[in-house]
Amino acid sequence: MSLPGFALGGVLGNRSLQQRSLKRERVHRLCAEGGGGGGGLNNFGRGRGDGDGYFGGDEVFRLPAAVPLEPTKKLDVITTTSIITDLAKCIAGDFLSITGIIQPGDDPHVYEPVPTDSIRIEKADIILYNGFDLEMNLMPLINNATQQCKQFAVGESVEPMPSCESTDTPDPHVWNDARNAACMVNAISDAFSECDPEHGKIYLKRARRMNKELVELDQWIKKSIQSVPESKRMLVTTHDAFQYYARAYGLTILGTLMGINTEEQPSAKMMSELISEIRLAKPPVVFFEKTVSPTLIRAVAEDANVDLCDESLYSDSIGPEGSGAETYQRMMAYNTRVIVDALGGRTGPPPLAFSSPL
Ligand SMILES: [Zn+2]
Repeated sequence: MSLPGFALGGVLGNRSLQQRSLKRERVHRLCAEGGGGGGGLNNFGRGRGDGDGYFGGDEVFRLPAAVPLEPTKKLDVITTTSIITDLAKCIAGDFLSITGIIQPGDDPHVYEPVPTDSIRIEKADIILYNGFDLEMNLMPLINNATQQCKQFAVGESVEPMPSCESTDTPDPHVWNDARNAACMVNAISDAFSECDPEHGKIYLKRARRMNKELVELDQWIKKSIQSVPESKRMLVTTHDAFQYYARAYGLTILGTLMGINTEEQPSAKMMSELISEIRLAKPPVVFFEKTVSPTLIRAVAEDANVDLCDESLYSDSIGPEGSGAETYQRMMAYNTRVIVDALGGRTGPPPLAFSSPL
C-alpha cells in the first residue's frame, strides 16, 4: 500500500514520528536497500598476556608475572519484544549478549517497565526495538539512554501500513508478514555488523540463511490460506494486529474489537457495529488473542451468534517454552494452523528448519 506520509527517511506524517526522528539514530533502510553500516561502537578489552620470562646471555631477565587472559567482553544487546529477541538471538549466536525485556506472553502495548529495565537499558551497548509506537511505555527509558548506546528501530525498516483508525498512524504489527520479518532480520544483521564489524560476515551469513527460511515459511502460509474456501477467508480478532498478515496471505479483516492498541477499551458503539458486521458476513469463527482478555470478544461472538475459536492467536508475542510457538517462525506456523483449521482449510507440515545459530 502506498503511503507517502510514511516514506522512510522522508518527512513523517505526525508529531510523534518527527520527535522520534530527531532523537535517535535509527534503521531507516528499506529491505531492498540492504547494506551495512560502518564504524565500530566501543573498544572492548581483548585478551592480552606476556611470557613469564626469557634468558639472555648469562643473566635471567624476569618479566612481570603473567597477566591472565581476559575474556573478550560481549556487547550487551537489549531487545524489547519477544519477537525481536528471538530474531536477534538467531543472528547473534554466541557473539553478543542478548537480553529481552518483554517476555513471551506479555503485551508490548501496555508493558509497564520495572526498575531493572532502567538499569539494563542504561548499561546497554545496543538497543533493538520495534518502533512505530509499539513499546509506548518503554520509549521514555530508551530515549533517555546514554549517548554511547546505539539504537535501532528494526520494525521501522519496513514500510508501514496505516492503522485502521488514522492514515497518520502507522500500524506497528509489521512482523505478521514473513517478508517483513526478513527485512527486520536484515536490519538486525546490519545493526550488529555496524557495532561488531569483526563478526559482520557471520551475521550476514546467518541473515541470508534466515531469509531463505522465511521465504519458505511465507510460501507455506500462502498455500495454507489458499486451502480455505474463498468465501470463508475472513478474520475477526480482538485487536487490529493482523492487517499485514491479511494483506500478505489473502484474508479480509472483517473487523476488530479494538484498534492497533490494546490499551483502549472499545465503546458500546464499536461493539455493536462489529456484531452487525459479523451477523452480515457470517464468518465461521471469531478469533481471540493470547495477550488480550477474551471477555469482550466472547460477548461479541455470543451476540453475533458465531463461535469463538477454541485456540487463541499469538498477536504481539511469541509463546513460552513448550507452547509450539516459542520462536518467530513457529509462532507464524502456529497462528496459520489455528486460522486455517478454524476456517475450514488444511495445512500440511510447515517448513520447520527454523534457525538456530550457526
Ligand atoms: Zn498489538
